[in-house]
Amino acid sequence: MPRNAPPLSSLFELLPMGAYRSLPDGRQLRANAALVRLNGYQTEASMLAAVNDISLEWYVDPGRRETFKNLIERHGQITDFVSEIYRHKTRERIWVRETAHVVRDANGSVLFYEGVVEDITAAREQQANALSAEAVWKLALEATGDGVWDWHIQTGEELLSPSCKAIYGYSDADLPDLASALDELTHPDDLQAMHQDRQAHFEGRTPIYVNEHRVRCKDGTWKWIMSRGAVIARDAQGLPLRMIGTHTDITERKRSQALIWQQANFDPLTGLPNRRMLRDRLEQHMRHARRTGERLAILFMDLDHFKEVNDTRGHDQGDDLLKQAAQRIRSSLRDSDTVARMGGDEFTVVLSDVPPGGPPDRMLQDMLQAVSRPYQLLGDQAFVSASIGITLFPDDGTDVEALFKNADQALYAAKGAGRNRYSYFTPALQSAAQARARLATDLRSAMQQQQFHVLYQPIVCLKGGVIRKAEALIRWQHPTRGLVSPTEFIALAESIGLIDELGDWVFEQARMQVKSWRERFEPEFQISVNKSPLQFQVARASCDDWGARLAAAGLPGNAIAAEITEGLLLDTHDQVSERLLALRDSGVQVSLDDFGTGYSSLAYLQKFEIDFIKIDQSFVRHLIPDSTDLALCRAIIAMAHALGIRVVAEGVESEEQARLLADIGCDFGQGYWFSRPIPAAEFDQLLAAGHRFAAWPDQSSSGSPT
Ligand code: C2E
Ligand code: MG
Ligand code: MG
Repeated sequence: MPRNAPPLSSLFELLPMGAYRSLPDGRQLRANAALVRLNGYQTEASMLAAVNDISLEWYVDPGRRETFKNLIERHGQITDFVSEIYRHKTRERIWVRETAHVVRDANGSVLFYEGVVEDITAAREQQANALSAEAVWKLALEATGDGVWDWHIQTGEELLSPSCKAIYGYSDADLPDLASALDELTHPDDLQAMHQDRQAHFEGRTPIYVNEHRVRCKDGTWKWIMSRGAVIARDAQGLPLRMIGTHTDITERKRSQALIWQQANFDPLTGLPNRRMLRDRLEQHMRHARRTGERLAILFMDLDHFKEVNDTRGHDQGDDLLKQAAQRIRSSLRDSDTVARMGGDEFTVVLSDVPPGGPPDRMLQDMLQAVSRPYQLLGDQAFVSASIGITLFPDDGTDVEALFKNADQALYAAKGAGRNRYSYFTPALQSAAQARARLATDLRSAMQQQQFHVLYQPIVCLKGGVIRKAEALIRWQHPTRGLVSPTEFIALAESIGLIDELGDWVFEQARMQVKSWRERFEPEFQISVNKSPLQFQVARASCDDWGARLAAAGLPGNAIAAEITEGLLLDTHDQVSERLLALRDSGVQVSLDDFGTGYSSLAYLQKFEIDFIKIDQSFVRHLIPDSTDLALCRAIIAMAHALGIRVVAEGVESEEQARLLADIGCDFGQGYWFSRPIPAAEFDQLLAAGHRFAAWPDQSSSGSPT
């Protein structure tokens, strides 16, 4: 040990990093405990003995010793000299960082070197790993074509790849490389969630940061992006230092998601919520109402006569009308109310905060009026009205299903009461609906239980009072309710899909009956059979085979006339008009029932070569001399005759009516005055008795029309 060496302080001993004193030739004079450990020894003495006596290299690269020496001699000190060395005793390779200086005496001669040695192996490894991880990251990220960002969290610097800036239309120079610059472009509504997601990742609650938000582009538009990233470096306290990630443009995806949502929840034609959305909204309204104790009104609304407009004017104009109607309904409501289109011409309205007893009459009338104002369609006006069924929450029901059923029953009642009005749900309606449901059940088994029979009502030639035809009218003898009118059960049979079977059965009865009457009494006799419009729609062959079935019985087509309603002529479905024409082609005659109550035009009567029209009872009922009805009947008859169509007047209840009709040239009469509908056996007797009505003087000696 050289003299003059100042004593080593206890600091030297306690230093956590290695410290030494050595001679310029490399010989070690002292080593502190940390350095002894660094070199793999237990005591200073054993280490000094080993490093000084055995000339084992310390530096892995022997040239480092020379470099060290040169540097320290030239500068008197050396800082952060990093080398790979052998842990002396074990020959493990480790990395160290040395800082040293030369200690001189008063004359400037070198006494020794003093320095510290720090094992930086672990830190270097970490750094190497981090570097390679970052390289891999960036490579992978850029390969996706997304924009890449690299954020130095504590300095606020954020490097954006050119492709990242390009997403938003910025050039590299446009946008400073600062996190705050990007944050400023983020949509204010999305900022909070973005910060929350970042924080969650910083705190290690999420393995990856993912957030979707909008960014303002250079041109002022917004783009939806998905930002994904991860912290790749933290400081000693674990606070994030650096984060790398990407921006993916998801604007298109968001747009199509929005579109899908829109399509799933809104009616494309009117833009109103659809059935599904209505349900959601109603449930929301109900939850709110439950809390606040307020009352809701649920309105089912159906446009009256919309089908006619749609059928005559075509679907484009029908759609136009629906759009206008939707607009009118919407604007007759408050913003807090909901209106939805349920499909077709059906709308549902939910009114909130409704007074006891329901919405004010004034408002409902306004709504009805709004809908029934004329509609301007392609230069021409159209008219519809609305029927409304109303039910109240919670008074009438507390769940959606029950409320819908109630509103439906109330709507049914409004329509039944004559349309263009509103009806409230009542328990009586409910029991009526239940009765209908029971009737439907009974109707299903009625055919099998032979509860139906057919009555025949004479159709009399007004020129000679002779019975030329009969109308077949079905009757249902219900085991407990007695005789049920077809006005009660035909519509029901239509709605439960039984009309086809029923219609066929009546046709079959009429076919046998007309054969018998033709053979026994009148070779030209004809029976007319009512045919529901639905029978022209079903995808069944049997509805087309009336002609064939008549032929099979040796009967010509004109033994039967089909009574159809005007609506059928307006039906724009090809299938329906084809069937009607096919029926005509098989020789079956066609009679237009209830004429004057619908919408048919001359063009249709001609197109389908209608044989008869039956003037509706409502025109005949009040027939007196010089009445409007008489004028109407006269006009109808003149028009029909001009087209070669013969006319039957329905509902003739008095001799006067019969005479007036005969006087204005009506061909046939049918009604209670001649005869009620009667069983075939009774009809037999009429025919056997010469089938002339005694009360009806023979008005012409010439032949009578058939
Ligand atoms: P509709 O085809 O217009 O038949 C005429 C209706 O007027 C019959 O009622 C008949 O009994 C009634 N009537 C006849 N003369 C008079 C009269 O002088 N005064 C009054 N007030 N009424 C008279 P009904 O038999 O109750 O039939 C009602 C409706 O049910 C029929 O009207 C028809 O649309 C339908 N219907 C009846 N049978 C069938 C059927 O077999 N198939 C189909 N699809 N519908 C049928
Ligand atoms: Mg009829
Ligand atoms: Mg009729």
